[in-house]
Amino acid sequence: LPASIKEPLFAAYNNCNLDKVKAALADPDVITMVQCAPAVRVGIAEDFGAELGTVAAGKLAAALHKIGFDRVYDTNFTADLTIMEEGTELIKRITEGAGKLPMFTSCCPAWVTFLERNYPDQKDHLSTCKSPQQMGAIFKTYGAKLDNYDPAKIFTVSVMPCTCKEFECNREEMNSSGYQDIDVAITTRELAYLIKDMDIDFNALADEDFDQPLGEYTGAGTIFGVTGGVMEAAIRTGYELITGKPIPDIDVSAVRGSNAFRTATLKVGDLDLKVGIVTGLANVIPVMEDLKAGKLDLHFIEVMTCPVGCVSGGGQPKLLLDSEKEAAYESRTKGIYTHDAELPIRKSHENPAITKIYEEYLLSPNGKESHHMLHTHYGTGENSFQK
Ligand code: SF4
Repeated sequence: LPASIKEPLFAAYNNCNLDKVKAALADPDVITMVQCAPAVRVGIAEDFGAELGTVAAGKLAAALHKIGFDRVYDTNFTADLTIMEEGTELIKRITEGAGKLPMFTSCCPAWVTFLERNYPDQKDHLSTCKSPQQMGAIFKTYGAKLDNYDPAKIFTVSVMPCTCKEFECNREEMNSSGYQDIDVAITTRELAYLIKDMDIDFNALADEDFDQPLGEYTGAGTIFGVTGGVMEAAIRTGYELITGKPIPDIDVSAVRGSNAFRTATLKVGDLDLKVGIVTGLANVIPVMEDLKAGKLDLHFIEVMTCPVGCVSGGGQPKLLLDSEKEAAYESRTKGIYTHDAELPIRKSHENPAITKIYEEYLLSPNGKESHHMLHTHYGTGENSFQK
């Protein structure tokens, strides 16, 4: 369809959440805070005519400021926070027996719900960490304290490559801040529509930074956008926390790729760390059956629902042809790794804003406050759409 037809149709379909965002932005009594997932910055420029996979982090931050959000924070920061929590949890499960192995990642709400509904007896294998989006609970707590804001007046928006994230932020347990932690999730496409609707010339924007400190991020937070990225980010930090030495090669190529299920054994001090990466829910079924049969000899498994992780999520700019999809997934993946390589800090535990939040607020990974704010317990997956 030509854009003149497609965009109004799209807007009509999505107007509910965008109307909520616009109403919050227009209300002088409401403080608006926004966060953006890693994959959004390698997708959004496509909706403004850029080449597939163009990295547009600076223009994205500038557009969000121009739209009028009071604080422009970043899911890449909470991805770094996820690594601190999830990495510590994994180390405790391995070294102290503090939980079941293998431990599965819990960043992808479609995967979490799939496990809850189809393999409820195995849910103790899930990391108790919330996803990076939901670790945005710190915006209405620590973020409110930083600016002396009344948390009751804060409206939090997340921009996601994902059509499942709205489901996740409406889960009834996602209220550790004392309020619904994330009020609304919109997709990359919806943000592009909002930018156009507000007559913002995206391509003419000069690059800006995300706001500090909750918009400061590392390459490790960035690679959450691709399959294997959560695993690689966890290894970069886990290796150094366990051995006390710099990781020999920061590019953990053993966990990169796009095969449906791939495994690797990595030497971490005295430990042979056995990891697995799954893309696509159909591909996780044999893995779960092996787990049930006691045939799965791994410590840590990353599962993502979309073909090559979040860069290929359903909320990213629309691609009509299969050939176009393949090129886009490849280009966006390349964009993520390029952005990672260009960032000055590439390990989550070296993010100074992460050090600061633990010093000032959370105190220690997996500590009491972290458990309250950043971890959860899983149930049936049926508890959504409560509002
Ligand atoms: Fe959403 Fe897909 Fe990413 Fe899962 S892999 S969080 S379904 S975009």
